[in-house]
Amino acid sequence: MADLTLPTQLFIDGAFVAGEGEAERVLNPATGALLVEVPEASVEQVHKAVSAAHRAFDGWRDTTPMERSRALLKLADAIEAEAETFARLESLNCGKPYARALGDEIPAVADVFRFFAGACRTLTGPLAGEYLAGHTSLIRRDPLGVVGSIAPWNYPLMMAAWKTAPALAAGNTVVLKPSEQTPLTALWLARVAADIFPKGVLNIVTGRGTSVGQPLVEHPKVAMVSVTGDVSTGRKILQAASGTLKRTHLELGGKAPVIVFDDADLAAVVEGLRTFGYYNAGQDCTAACRVYAGAKIHDKLVADLSSAVRSIKMGTQDEDGVEIGPLISERQRNRVASFVERAQMTGHMEVTAGGKTRAGSGFFYEPTVVAGARQEDEIVKREVFGPVVSVTRFTDPEQAIDWANDSDYGLASSVWTQDVGRAMRVARSLQYGCTWINTHFMLVNEMPHGGLKSSGYGKDMSLFALEDYTVARHVMVKL
Ligand code: NAD
Repeated sequence: MADLTLPTQLFIDGAFVAGEGEAERVLNPATGALLVEVPEASVEQVHKAVSAAHRAFDGWRDTTPMERSRALLKLADAIEAEAETFARLESLNCGKPYARALGDEIPAVADVFRFFAGACRTLTGPLAGEYLAGHTSLIRRDPLGVVGSIAPWNYPLMMAAWKTAPALAAGNTVVLKPSEQTPLTALWLARVAADIFPKGVLNIVTGRGTSVGQPLVEHPKVAMVSVTGDVSTGRKILQAASGTLKRTHLELGGKAPVIVFDDADLAAVVEGLRTFGYYNAGQDCTAACRVYAGAKIHDKLVADLSSAVRSIKMGTQDEDGVEIGPLISERQRNRVASFVERAQMTGHMEVTAGGKTRAGSGFFYEPTVVAGARQEDEIVKREVFGPVVSVTRFTDPEQAIDWANDSDYGLASSVWTQDVGRAMRVARSLQYGCTWINTHFMLVNEMPHGGLKSSGYGKDMSLFALEDYTVARHVMVKL
């Protein structure tokens, strides 16, 4: 692995080519050192990628589900065969613990491709029949054409999988743009996929949002744009897509509420928050970051959580027992630090664990607990996207539900109680794409992942994603 040459070439129309745009500096967030420079795509190269995908669409759409399924299964096998390389690249580029990338993420990525390999052979729909006398109606579910997929930096390969697998399985062709900060695993994916898909079916262009993402979104031959990213990015992309009235698939931010009732199993709550609030250094749109604790359990929860969080081992990719790494960039680290500073300045909040930038190289910020947060506080309202969990006390359960729903976001939530009836009532009331009961963060490919409100409206994973990447068409025959 020491002699691993980092990939820098774009993948357009089945060929590996150097980007003709500005060079992007790709860093190791654990040290701040330069890993490699990746020249981004020029606008002309983005157009070439879209044209290639457009040409390839005719052939790819004509393949049978079985043929597409075989290709996706081969890709899943190839990813597993190169699991160590993928994990190494992902951990270097994101600062993630190598063992986590290898043990958690790569198997999950392979499973995304396997799930959609099976799912595209099982789509169902209304029965063909005579709904008007003398006429037979039937439904087709067809691919849309070229999908422009735009991914974020927190789980680069996983997001590439969530976007490309359903799109390709449905018979679309894809131009994928990973985040300019984390292009390495997507570029490696191109190498692995090159021999599996016909040329032009999958294209990968790297670069920044404005110089590469925007021309992709605006291209008239792109039929659909799928983006995972910040809410402000989603808005810009929606505006850019409106010119050509493209279908959009938006997966935006989150600020997950965690409602802990007095009867909850405290040890399970603490263990859950220690894991699900801080995994990936909290850079997760579903992170369990906004706790509402019942008045009776509150003090013990803050005390136990704070001591549990102090035991989280933060470090570089290969340190023994490392649980979380740094944040993705200095900018992100400073952003997280400034949220905590402003919280402390209010006077009513207390940092009971962490709260500091780690001295030395790398973009580390200590896992942090902020107690005494009130509903109107910024730390409760805005997405921090770092290892910071706030705790707010509640006395009235209805108020806890109102506070949980009083958010611009609507992606993920959880309820912790031993009362099944209460758990189900609260789950019904929460305006979130997902509600977990007595757990948090767990995703499975069979179930949809997506949000409400400003968290967007696209579904990833599951048959719902496959539907998002297809169009239902009615064909009627006069008999
Ligand atoms: P970001 O919005 O900065 O960037 C996301 C992607 O959009 C990048 O590839 C970027 O280059 C591109 N982009 C930016 N501006 C663009 C433009 N004008 N036109 C086209 N493309 C553009 O997000 P990020 O900082 O990489 O990721 C963090 C954000 O992603 C967080 O807000 C997080 O909540 C969100 N996220 C959401 C989910 C989800 O499933 N809902 C999952 C992961 C991350």
